[in-house]
Amino acid sequence: MDTVKTSLVDEIVSLRHQFHQYPELSNQEFATTEKIKQILTDWNIPIVDTELDTGLLAEIRGNEAGATIALRADIDALPVTEQTNLPYKSKNDGVMHACGHDIHFSSLLGAAYLLNQQKDSLKGTVRLLFQPAEEAGHGGDQVLNKHVLNGVQAIAGFHNNPTMPVGQIALDQGPLMAGCYRFVVKIQGNGTHGAQPQKGTDPIVTQAAIISQLQTIVSRNNDPFHAVVVSVTKVNAGKTWNVIPETAAFEGTARTFYEEDTELVKRRFFEIVNNTAQAFGQKAEIDWTTGALPIDNDPEITQVVASGLSQPVVKPVLTMTAEDFATFEAKIPGTFAFIGSNGAKDAADLHDPRYVGSDKTIPVAINYFVETAHSLLNHFNNLEK
Ligand SMILES: [Zn+2]
Ligand SMILES: [Zn+2]
Repeated sequence: MDTVKTSLVDEIVSLRHQFHQYPELSNQEFATTEKIKQILTDWNIPIVDTELDTGLLAEIRGNEAGATIALRADIDALPVTEQTNLPYKSKNDGVMHACGHDIHFSSLLGAAYLLNQQKDSLKGTVRLLFQPAEEAGHGGDQVLNKHVLNGVQAIAGFHNNPTMPVGQIALDQGPLMAGCYRFVVKIQGNGTHGAQPQKGTDPIVTQAAIISQLQTIVSRNNDPFHAVVVSVTKVNAGKTWNVIPETAAFEGTARTFYEEDTELVKRRFFEIVNNTAQAFGQKAEIDWTTGALPIDNDPEITQVVASGLSQPVVKPVLTMTAEDFATFEAKIPGTFAFIGSNGAKDAADLHDPRYVGSDKTIPVAINYFVETAHSLLNHFNNLEK
């Protein structure tokens, strides 16, 4: 694959700067969606009719019939007030592309342009998914529920990674990003005078005991070679200094890479919370929800994509953060890469108000998408022969 032409890169970089100035939160990406539609329409790339409120699907059909694959980029931003000195800094107060999704979908636009130019030599269909609401965690479900990806044989995406040098691609089969689970616990005690604890059952003491014991899931139950996190991040109880309250509540998150670990963490979590509450003569209510499944790259698809890239890939460093792309991987064989977007020693990480993702990531990401589309189509077309 030739390197992407400078004129196209310049155009995409300037689009990226515009998108960066007008970021929009999950499910509110109306202007972003309109702008992407307008650009694709100007380039004569067909938009597929879907029932998505924000986000969109475009489709490039090759001259010859063949396999169908999808390339995905997310389009939403975060409620973060940008603190960079970039000339194209956010103009939408309190909203920032602090996760660099502007890099992702600008690169997908660049890839769309090139693939459309190459469609005479393309055998099969490439669907370009501009996914809404990644940060809210339900965008992937919205896309699947509206049947936007029916018939797709494989899907690929990437996340920019400011801890890696610009342009480096990290890709491997198996786990990459953790599954994300949220728990909310409410403990029901009996309120009483702070000076007469014997007349009630104190939910604060119960809560303190539970939170301490939850630390043993990672330190005593989990295999030390498997990364797992259990973090209590919010506690709430009481209103004043001389009253023992009726209830106490806390919430937080668990992160795991493997289903067996999720089962273990969840089982121990319920045992510790329920049995400790019972030991103190109280009851606990637990609400446990899945935010995102782990990213678990399909071995075959990953191999096809990695060997089709014109640059060598490195082994990724796993992260406990989560990504909605896992929703697709649970249904469609897929692969997800990291592409280095900064690499400076003191580079701010994703979601940081000082995060800066380099424009130089863009040509590498465009190439990643274009080469991936070709290698996946070839792979499936050859299988069908
Ligand atoms: Zn993010
Ligand atoms: Zn992100």
